[in-house]
Amino acid sequence: MFAGHYGVAFGLKGANRRLPLVYLFLAVQFVDILWALFVLLGIEQVRIVPGLMKGSSLDFVHYPYSHSLFMTFLWAGLAYVLYKRFVGLGRPVVLALAVVSHFFLDALVHRPDLPIWLGPHPMRIGFGLWNLPVIELLLEGLLVAIGLKVYAGATVWRSKAGRIGPWLVGAFLLIVTGTGVLMAPATAPSVIATASLLTNTGMVGIAYWFDRQRG
Ligand SMILES: [Zn+2]
Repeated sequence: MFAGHYGVAFGLKGANRRLPLVYLFLAVQFVDILWALFVLLGIEQVRIVPGLMKGSSLDFVHYPYSHSLFMTFLWAGLAYVLYKRFVGLGRPVVLALAVVSHFFLDALVHRPDLPIWLGPHPMRIGFGLWNLPVIELLLEGLLVAIGLKVYAGATVWRSKAGRIGPWLVGAFLLIVTGTGVLMAPATAPSVIATASLLTNTGMVGIAYWFDRQRG
């Protein structure tokens, strides 16, 4: 799941206009940003197994700190406290919900590899939609379309770029996601983690710009 997370961020911004989109983008991908950093630091492990799933060759061997349900709630709590303390625009609880949403969307597409808690033998869940790539992509497309519709309906643009920008970004997100799911690239874990980090950082920059183009 990639584009769908951002669909949720757009939708939540539409429903809570005072919350800057930039923080919502950070929130929905908070645990993926941590995951990429943890993989690069050797704290979490991912293996590449070509053909593991039709839409993904990533074998998430060990990622309890970024992606377990237990830690997801802790990260959401941390996001809530930091946001309330240092930003405080809109409702911090919505930002915390955005962090939590990541786990449940990931659970739809991952194999049963998402740990519920920390420890050596945690219960793991995942409904495996990555094995049905077309359905998976339709789901991501639907999340982006609904999110963008809510966002576009609730915000007004201050420039022409602000008018078409979100739809261009939606198309970009779906192209990136579609390429990933249909090709399931089998490259080195460090390359995947770096690409993920760069893409998510780039999206934060785009959200920062959107917050100035649309209000
Ligand atoms: Zn994830």
